[in-house]
Amino acid sequence: EKNHPAQPEFHQAVREVLLCMEPVAQNHPEYIKAGIFERIVEPERVIIFRVSWVDDQGKVQVNRGYRVQFNSAIGPYKGGLRFHPSVNLGVIKFLGFEQIFKNSLTSLPMGGGKGGSDFDPKGKSDNEIMRFCQSFMTELAKHIGADTDVPAGDIGVGAREIGFMFGQYKRLKNEFTGVLTGKGLNYGGSLVRTQATGYGCCYFTDEMLATRGESFVGKDVVISGSGNVAIYAAEKAMQLGGKVVALSDSNGYIHDPEGIDLNAVKQLKEVERKRIKEYVTTHPTATYHEGCNGIWTIPCQIALPCATQNELDKEAALTLVKNGVIAVAEGANMPSTPEAVDVFLDNKVLFAPGKAANAGGVATSGLEMSQNSMRYSWSFEEVDEKLKGIMKHIHNNARAAAEKYGDAENYVLGANIAGFLKVADAMYMQGVAY
Ligand code: NDP
Repeated sequence: EKNHPAQPEFHQAVREVLLCMEPVAQNHPEYIKAGIFERIVEPERVIIFRVSWVDDQGKVQVNRGYRVQFNSAIGPYKGGLRFHPSVNLGVIKFLGFEQIFKNSLTSLPMGGGKGGSDFDPKGKSDNEIMRFCQSFMTELAKHIGADTDVPAGDIGVGAREIGFMFGQYKRLKNEFTGVLTGKGLNYGGSLVRTQATGYGCCYFTDEMLATRGESFVGKDVVISGSGNVAIYAAEKAMQLGGKVVALSDSNGYIHDPEGIDLNAVKQLKEVERKRIKEYVTTHPTATYHEGCNGIWTIPCQIALPCATQNELDKEAALTLVKNGVIAVAEGANMPSTPEAVDVFLDNKVLFAPGKAANAGGVATSGLEMSQNSMRYSWSFEEVDEKLKGIMKHIHNNARAAAEKYGDAENYVLGANIAGFLKVADAMYMQGVAY
């Protein structure tokens, strides 16, 4: 904490991983000798830059851009870009650190990185978004590349922003390469990438449920957020037989006991870019409630937090348990506070940490990179099958590691150890070069 002051989210993420590493350190004295634990918490490179752009009134605006290239032991840096006013160095470092182990779990060759800006896309015109993205990429382009660092989307960065950034990269470098993932389908994007994080989260949940002879069928599902991850988690949860009864945004949540009408949500969020409360104007069975945290008071058997970090605290976890939740899977990164995670583990709730449950997004980005390298595209069914296989592999791998090092149902322990070992081994074998 002394070396990384005032970065609470980063400390939280590091603490969670290192607390699971006691048995690993005992089994691998060579890691201690090689300084693996000290090295892995220090990013290989941090880039911070000015992003100036001109708004629609002709006024110059200044934001701060970040790219944290955390670890390249097993592949080029890979991880999303987040545009949100809460972005700072500590947030990007927490996300980059998580990304190392998540990417390792996918079994694909990707290192860990993350980036973004404190730019707030809300209420900005398409032209303002474009000018910001172009200015952001003008600097970022110097530091990334298809074999070096391949960013993707995250909060506030979807297909529109990726398009603007890709266009600018191509203009600057005069090359058409897979330097970003999440691209449009007509210029190198992969089928299923849009759906991948949400779908993958449900595939993982289904695997966990199956270990207890359970499934989504007939279960009420509460999902926070109404962005990319939440929408496609809802779609897959419904396809698997669940009833999604609630969604939210940062202002409040909607509750529809009849089951959410997902086409209406897609129209609102993806096309009209409106707030979730608008849903109730066309759906009389639904109610809207101010304040996003209240969503966890709705009784459900499956909860999928898919909005942002630390959105689900101890009190919310206790309420979910009291109401009979059997599975919680994190579509977002670190949405549950450490105290909430303890509540789930103590009460034998099947709990999937983000680095395992939401790895489907980056895994499909990895598949997009492969398709770009081959200059070829797979069908929706082919990519979806691969995604399903990867999520099953992550589940089984995390469970096996958890079993070996303690308790088979502790997916936090399992995911951290399984993700860590591959990276630690690679760092060990590559020597102390940096
Ligand atoms: P989007 O920008 O598409 O959606 C984010 C959603 O979360 C919105 O509904 C937003 O509401 C809500 N939200 C954001 N910040 C807050 C906040 N501070 N408090 C309450 N709600 C908030 O992002 P994604 O769906 O892509 O990302 C959601 C989460 O999933 C993030 O944690 C991200 O890191 C993680 N993730 C995303 C992946 C991807 O492939 N996209 C891959 C792996 C993880 P509002 O509109 O009001 O801001």
